[in-house]
Amino acid sequence: MAKPILTFPHPLLYKKSREVEELNGALARLVEEMLETMYGAPGIGLAAPQIGENIRLIVFDLSDPEAPERRPHHLINPVITALEGEVVGEEGCLSVPGVREKVKRYARVEVKGLDLQGRERIFEAQGLLARMFQHEIDHLDGVLFIDRLGPIKRRRLKSLLLKREREG
Ligand code: ZN
Repeated sequence: MAKPILTFPHPLLYKKSREVEELNGALARLVEEMLETMYGAPGIGLAAPQIGENIRLIVFDLSDPEAPERRPHHLINPVITALEGEVVGEEGCLSVPGVREKVKRYARVEVKGLDLQGRERIFEAQGLLARMFQHEIDHLDGVLFIDRLGPIKRRRLKSLLLKREREG
């Protein structure tokens, strides 16, 4: 079942998530819930803390939403093991609805993690996939993309978001 997505400034979004220590049925169910939540939003990636679970788990799918078969992925305890270059591109976040801003990221990253079967998965990513990994791994460290903006823009945006939150 899809879960509600926590939005800025929810404190769980600012908490560092702990490593997954056990691959079990509860974790598999959480992966399913996260995928349903992500597809329902819709989004291309989701990190566990966005639905209130502060563990190092992400799901993603960059395939064409119109395609007959989607390509769901999950990655447990993902770590960036190599990085290269810089690129600025527009980003948004399901936890910061209605905001898109240009963010500087590494152009290419290698990301390692585990799947539910305990197999090591390695992704050599560039373009949107590389951006998605950096964005979702930031969530596991309690960092939102708006925290990566310059200080003036960040302050302006945060006060706007807090005002919007107060006014409902
Ligand atoms: Zn996000």
